[in-house]
Amino acid sequence: MSKDKKGVKLEHISKIYKDPKTGKDFYAVKDTTLEIKPGSFVTLLGPSGCGKTTTLRMIAGFESPDEGEIYLCDEAINELTPNKRDTAMVFQSYALLPHYNVFDNVAYGLKLRKVPKDEIKEKVMKILDLVELSGMEGRMTNQLSGGQQQRVALARALVLEPSVLLFDEPLSNLDAKLRVSMRTEIRRIQQEVGITAIYVTHDQSEAMALSDEIIIMEKGIVAQKGTPEEIYYHPINEFVADFIGEANFLTGKVVSVDDKYAELEIENEKVKVMKKDGMNVGEDAKIVLRPEGGFLSDNRGIECEVVLSCFMGAYQNYHVKVGDTIVKLADYNPNIENVYKVGDKCKLAFEPESVHVL
Ligand code: ATP
Repeated sequence: MSKDKKGVKLEHISKIYKDPKTGKDFYAVKDTTLEIKPGSFVTLLGPSGCGKTTTLRMIAGFESPDEGEIYLCDEAINELTPNKRDTAMVFQSYALLPHYNVFDNVAYGLKLRKVPKDEIKEKVMKILDLVELSGMEGRMTNQLSGGQQQRVALARALVLEPSVLLFDEPLSNLDAKLRVSMRTEIRRIQQEVGITAIYVTHDQSEAMALSDEIIIMEKGIVAQKGTPEEIYYHPINEFVADFIGEANFLTGKVVSVDDKYAELEIENEKVKVMKKDGMNVGEDAKIVLRPEGGFLSDNRGIECEVVLSCFMGAYQNYHVKVGDTIVKLADYNPNIENVYKVGDKCKLAFEPESVHVL
């Protein structure tokens, strides 16, 4: 498959639905502007009902936006039906044809497009090889495992050689172990084909493992777009910080600011953090501390009490009480002799670079 890679652009897209309970209109997606780079793997991530699937279905053409315009490369595509768009969708339910074998399922879309028989055979066999199902062409789909059925669904989308591949929670019907191996497969195939991929999930580890960029949605609005690292280390607000990974929040008063650092007073203790633009002495500031970003110490940091200390193999899991707040910590490669126990009074410390000021 060698096609020009195409990006996707959403300009001020909105979708309005009627709430069946109240009968009132509401925005399922509101004024969304996004640019998805050609050849990139982008994930729409967010809690149930935030508008991920609606956004994906508008790109596919199964729903039409009430406001705004969608572009594939530079072509406005709002008016095109799904089969006229250069996109293909892989569904959560696989949507396979139950009375057809693997070959015919994959060949179906090409037959509809009146592709010559020889060409169909060549394309189907090549794609089955790519998804590692060679030799299975004669099997009926009900004789396949869940993972194999998902590969057929993927092959069916890929064989049409779309410029953009859309995934609607494709792995949610698989068990946890298979999900992990299939997501690696999906990433391998996407990179091999060099196709643009837009993937909907509410599973943050899936999003982190797959994506060049993650788009976090909240109540129909894009909360943040960035690489997994940007989203994890520099979340824009509490919702994003809490949605990606485990996050502790601590609030303190800004007591000094210089070119690079600021000092916060938290529970009568001064701690250093990286300065944030616009930070002023006297204001309250909230910081995000990831569990692996903090550590316990006898002599530096904020006073705390250990309320949970649990050996997890690779790390020691602590919960410590700082004032009224419980802070969760993961101490990797713990030195068994220095493990703190429940009831110990100690100090919570971190490096300025390990916390993010919201
Ligand atoms: P999930 O992870 O649960 O699939 P989602 O983020 O994909 O959620 P959407 O399916 O995009 O969410 O739905 C966004 C909102 O729009 C939800 O409140 C949903 O109930 C509502 N909605 C979706 N489709 C329709 C429809 N056809 N008519 C009315 N409301 C709808």
